[in-house]
Amino acid sequence: MGKHRIAAIPGDGIGKEVIAAGEEVLTALAKRTAGLDLSFTSFPWGSDHYMAHGRMMPEGATDELKTFDAIYFGSAGDPRVPDHISLWQLRLAICQGFDQYANIRPTRVLPGLKSPLANVTAKDIDWLIVRENSEGEYSGAGGRVHQKLPLDVGLDVSIITREGARRILKFALDEARKRPRKTLTFVTKSNAQRHAMVLWDEVFDEVKAAYPDIKTDRMLVDAMAARFVTDPASIDTVVATNLHADILSDLAAALAGGLGIAPTGNVNPERVFPSMFEPIHGSAFDIMGRGIANPLGSFWSAVLMLDHLGEPDAGARLMRAIETVTREGRVLTRDLGGQSTTAEVTRTVIAALD
Ligand code: ATP
Repeated sequence: MGKHRIAAIPGDGIGKEVIAAGEEVLTALAKRTAGLDLSFTSFPWGSDHYMAHGRMMPEGATDELKTFDAIYFGSAGDPRVPDHISLWQLRLAICQGFDQYANIRPTRVLPGLKSPLANVTAKDIDWLIVRENSEGEYSGAGGRVHQKLPLDVGLDVSIITREGARRILKFALDEARKRPRKTLTFVTKSNAQRHAMVLWDEVFDEVKAAYPDIKTDRMLVDAMAARFVTDPASIDTVVATNLHADILSDLAAALAGGLGIAPTGNVNPERVFPSMFEPIHGSAFDIMGRGIANPLGSFWSAVLMLDHLGEPDAGARLMRAIETVTREGRVLTRDLGGQSTTAEVTRTVIAALD
């Protein structure tokens, strides 16, 4: 129990709405929890900042962020700003600058909600996807040559380092060990990509030797995508490279009931830097400003943040409140088949804390 300083970066679009809702819920939770003290400092960075100042966040921003215990992030993306700029100058600048190499995505069908898969219920889907978040296909290495000429060429170089692979695979095995089934699926594509992916495989064989209690299996990413649909109950913890896990975890979120609920954490396991927690959805400009965005993804992200801050009891209490609201099913936003607003869902979750 203690005092935690949180940097809030609402960002763009509905990020602003769901992070405001999340702060409201967390403040209500802290009020009800003896010894839990959460303070928020909000930073107005994102595409509006870019339009005004030519950059998504000011120079020295990460130095300022470094002093916080955690970062609570909304989303970045705006039709006025090229996507690669909004992504690289804000979210990825923080993830890479703070060495948040482990991205975690718990995926469950919450009580009362439905998977689009026929005959699949809450008991069939309880996954933890661990994504390598610092290199691989999104390392940023590469370049453009002969720009705008007939020979125009673009290269994105996928990079796997031995140490980068070791640390994420160890992290995933440790996470699998904390879960009841102690099972980890290792995802690769070393049949087609014969350099970096083969190193990825080799390091897995080395690291897993120290985990005889964890059941592991190995799958090619294409087959894994099919398995999420055809045999969801066989999956528990999954580890994959940056691109593969990016795609698989969006598939997983859709199979578990939608983008509006899914949370994620960008974790620096050594805690040298703050970690960052965010709903997985984007800025959803189609519904922005209408007060109808689903805030549950941002609330569940707050649960991950509380766990990371060493407040698992407070996190569990918030998770129970979220699940009470989905189970009752009376107050849900439109994306979950309801009619309620962001504010109504927020109030109902706060009431369910008691
Ligand atoms: P970005 O370009 O920033 O990644 P996006 O606008 O493409 O974001 P996503 O957030 O990926 O959109 O979501 C796709 C669609 O799903 C949105 O256009 C929106 O209609 C719906 N959606 C996403 N998140 C939510 C939410 N929290 N509540 C309600 N609907 C949502």
